[in-house]
Amino acid sequence: THFGFQSVPEEEKEHKVYEVFENVASKYDLMNDAMSGGIHRIWKDMFLDRFAPAPGTKLLDVAGGTGDIAFRFLKYVGAPTHISLQNESAMREKESSEEENPAAIIFSEPDENGSHVTVCDINQAMLDVGRHKADEMGYTSGISWLRGNAEMLSLPDNTFDAYTIAFGIRNCTHVQKVLNEAYRVLKPGGRFLCLEFSEVKNPLLRSVYDNYSFQVIPVMGQVLAGDWKSYQYLVESIRQFPNQEDFAAMIKLAGFRMVSYENLTFGVAAIHSGFKI
Ligand code: SAM
Repeated sequence: THFGFQSVPEEEKEHKVYEVFENVASKYDLMNDAMSGGIHRIWKDMFLDRFAPAPGTKLLDVAGGTGDIAFRFLKYVGAPTHISLQNESAMREKESSEEENPAAIIFSEPDENGSHVTVCDINQAMLDVGRHKADEMGYTSGISWLRGNAEMLSLPDNTFDAYTIAFGIRNCTHVQKVLNEAYRVLKPGGRFLCLEFSEVKNPLLRSVYDNYSFQVIPVMGQVLAGDWKSYQYLVESIRQFPNQEDFAAMIKLAGFRMVSYENLTFGVAAIHSGFKI
């Protein structure tokens, strides 16, 4: 279509995706609620439920955006929040030192149980919204923010207990590369978990869903965020992403074992899981 990205060549996809999230960052959370009727929250809660991380888990959350998965993880493992005047001034000091070197990787200490999440995203605007939220929620330890590309992580091999990616992998140009990288950075025994839009098989439900997404989503994008194109992209990227079975095959190809998936809301979304053994 005229508005869409369908004809965008592969080498331009990364740039286009970058622009989309640069444009939507400040409205990202609001738009998620509006377009899914809040259902994305339930899916993310279910995702954490299936993940069931133990305290002490070292997680890498890729395409972590504004931190929805990371904050649920911290809550799940019972990481403490520290809101006090003392900490606020410490935070302010931290912020000003970061300003001197905005490209610096921000690493924090694990929480008192050793739990830690590194939120990695290619887009600084999304990460900035997330960091601001972390400050507001009072998370001063247990979370780090890293700008980076899921297709080539600047992280060592065998580092994390778990790797999550939620509504992020379909935005990546080379999905297989992302999966191979996930495998590389996980420790042996580590778990891969992905939450992503998927395929609705039931023909009747599918036509309802198609009508909703192609006709309603871009209009809502225009009305709520003044941005038709970004939301048109969103819908197209969902249709182009491999279905449950094909994606599971790619996960196996990366080397993962015990690969399985679970449909959420008739397959509108799915959770894929695999282990590095
Ligand atoms: N995981 C978050 C959530 O569930 O709310 C954010 C999902 S958001 C739809 C997709 C995110 O993927 C954006 O923040 C975008 O910047 C990020 N992204 C896109 N391509 C990426 C890449 N190649 N590497 C890392 N992050 C990427």
